[in-house]
Amino acid sequence: MIKSKKKGSIIVISGTTCAGKGTVISKLLETEENMKLSISYTSRKIRPGDIEGETYYFVTKEEFERKIANGDFLEYAKVHDNYYGTPKLEIQQLLNQGIDVILEIDVVGAMNVKKMFPEVILIFIMAPSMEVVKERIKARGGESPAQIIRRFQTAYQEINEIPKYNYVVVNDVLEDAVLKVKSILISEKCRVDRIEEILVSNQEEVIHEFLMDKEFDNSEREIL
Ligand code: 5GP
Repeated sequence: MIKSKKKGSIIVISGTTCAGKGTVISKLLETEENMKLSISYTSRKIRPGDIEGETYYFVTKEEFERKIANGDFLEYAKVHDNYYGTPKLEIQQLLNQGIDVILEIDVVGAMNVKKMFPEVILIFIMAPSMEVVKERIKARGGESPAQIIRRFQTAYQEINEIPKYNYVVVNDVLEDAVLKVKSILISEKCRVDRIEEILVSNQEEVIHEFLMDKEFDNSEREIL
């Protein structure tokens, strides 16, 4: 009876450094078949644990700037002196196939996407405390003290931007955080503005069929 919009939704997931948004997204993708993560391009150096084509497409600064000039990005931003960009063509293709696309991007990127797609679902993932962030950064390694300080400064700035998002999820217990994100996405699918049409069969025909129904009790039929 309800015909929902066929196009996929764009879901932006941002979060403070080491909030565990990548883990939340991986867990989400394990069960959501109709959802894909957009792989961004970046000019940052590959870190231990990164996988080319999975974490990002790693390119040089020059290659990235060529892609900007070509108009290949839906949005891009400079974060911690490195470029990060969301590829345009691939996302449009997925949305047209009715697939929901997750963009794991920063606050600036999120706001740029919102300008282009006002119906975007904006979710912000937070670590339970900055103490936890400190521990996670130490455990991850691979960055200089100056880079770590930059990450903290950015994290504090980003927290101020939370009111611009639709939802905030604290990633304390991973399973709970994943459940919260799933619940948000289920609710979003039920939004009235996602409905294209409400299909109701002809009223008179349905009433007539009802009256002719042999299993229907006669006394009730008289009342009608
Ligand atoms: P990291 O270097 O830790 O992987 O990411 C640094 C920041 O860049 C994160 O806040 C991440 O969300 C953001 N980021 C990753 N890809 C994109 C993108 O395509 N566009 C924008 N605007 N930010 C991105």
